[in-house]
Amino acid sequence: MLAIPYLGHTGQPLTVRFRCLAEHNHREHGHGKYNTVPEDSPRMYGVDSIHAAGDEIHLTEGELDRIILRKIGWHAVAVPGSEMWFGRHRRMLAGFSRVWVWADPDEAGAKLAAKVCRSLRSAKPVRLRLGDVTDAYLAGGAQALHDAKEATA
Ligand SMILES: [Zn+2]
Repeated sequence: MLAIPYLGHTGQPLTVRFRCLAEHNHREHGHGKYNTVPEDSPRMYGVDSIHAAGDEIHLTEGELDRIILRKIGWHAVAVPGSEMWFGRHRRMLAGFSRVWVWADPDEAGAKLAAKVCRSLRSAKPVRLRLGDVTDAYLAGGAQALHDAKEATA
């Protein structure tokens, strides 16, 4: 499995999540597509960006989409799934004047975006048309993500 380390803002390891990379039915193999250390409560991924960002920050649905946004130079954090936005996350992002929300373009993603926008006035959902952040990046590179953000702003 792909190991996804969660690091604190000084680079200290907090936890690790795992993503199975096999093309099979994960449940039939006794695990999920994503796997968490038992009893570990859901954390925000990429919290070093909270300390490094300026007035704006990006929020993605899933760690790998956050990695894409960091790769193109934006500071971003991720929640590890559409159901993983909690009140304590609001407090972590409350100091930003703008929080761009990159939820997946599906029903679960729409619910996540609505939930984040209800709890943070600074939140603004970015409309993705070509799938999620990773799909858009693979289809159109960094420009596709810049275009999606511009179209929202
Ligand atoms: Zn699997």
